[in-house]
Amino acid sequence: MSTIQTAVMIEPGRIELRALPRPQIAADELLLKIESTGICGSDKHMYAGHMALKFPVIPGHELVGTIAELGAEATDHMAVIGGPIKEGDRVTTTPSSRVCGQCCYCLHMPQRPALCANRFVYGFVSSDLAPTPRGGFSEYMHMASNSWVFKIPDDLPSTYAVLTEPAAVATRAVERALGPGIPHIGEGLGLDKSVVVMGAGPIGQLVIAVLAHIGTDQIIATDLSPSRLDFAGQMGAHHTVNVGDDSADERLQQICDLTEGVGPDIVIETAGVPIAFKESLDLVRRGGMVVEVGHFTDPGGVDIHPHVICFKDLDIRGMWAYPAMQFKTALSFLKNTNAPLDKFVTHKLPLSDIEQGIDITGSEGSMKVVIEP
Ligand SMILES: [Zn+2]
Ligand SMILES: [Zn+2]
Repeated sequence: MSTIQTAVMIEPGRIELRALPRPQIAADELLLKIESTGICGSDKHMYAGHMALKFPVIPGHELVGTIAELGAEATDHMAVIGGPIKEGDRVTTTPSSRVCGQCCYCLHMPQRPALCANRFVYGFVSSDLAPTPRGGFSEYMHMASNSWVFKIPDDLPSTYAVLTEPAAVATRAVERALGPGIPHIGEGLGLDKSVVVMGAGPIGQLVIAVLAHIGTDQIIATDLSPSRLDFAGQMGAHHTVNVGDDSADERLQQICDLTEGVGPDIVIETAGVPIAFKESLDLVRRGGMVVEVGHFTDPGGVDIHPHVICFKDLDIRGMWAYPAMQFKTALSFLKNTNAPLDKFVTHKLPLSDIEQGIDITGSEGSMKVVIEP
């Protein structure tokens, strides 16, 4: 029997390369040969033990692959976007399977499919529960019948397409800030608005690129890393503020001075550091909006004064992933943006170097680290 290489996270802090039997697909399934899979901040948090998951897990959810085997009835059971698809086609998939359609959230809030209680999530599901490769850090991934498949446009290089999942996060973060559709009402994102993006990691950079793509007039990026702030400028930030240079009060003043003396209309928090959420409340103007993106995992808490939320009459919007169709938006953005995304992938490593890749992720000089199994 032929075998395939996979990277199995046995428990947080421990990954082993294992040979698994090559999956036998059913008529309604698909076998994906993985070309490249990005290491996400959430993979790093998973490795650090910040996620309550049932281990072992084969991680990896930012993937590009080619269809190695397509079951005869697979396309009848999958949501195929940009298709039709055939063996040899380059595709990506949302981490989440299709919704159940029956849980409380599906019945009452179908516009928020990420809340479905019965989804199957590639890269996060226990490999005991699904004893076949269900993650992207593997030579092949076994896709179940209720999956989403997005065909990658021929003219979109894989170094861009591997950013589809983080670009889905970034495009939704920006769409969460959109105004309610009445011009000049002053609410939410619009053309003549100021936005502070806290954190210039991969998600923050893509948020900046999306804001620039839709024509936001004032984008201010904050981070600790000079090289990341420099990159933020290339992505479209008009001003950058190094949070290591000044005290929080000086920083507040500096950003206030840049934003008509009142603070930005919108703050999008992508740093994932609890203190950054507190600072987002301090930065935003009265009647403004905070979009909290960075805390997909739980690194702890922070003291806030809830009075600020009342006094400023704030809108605070959280974000749990995105609807699957956000991948279509993300692919469209990746295809049409002028941002220099060819510089985004800074490291390409083989599967055997995955722990090194997790180590490099988030370090100075790195942006997106990609595994090529
Ligand atoms: Zn991700
Ligand atoms: Zn459901």
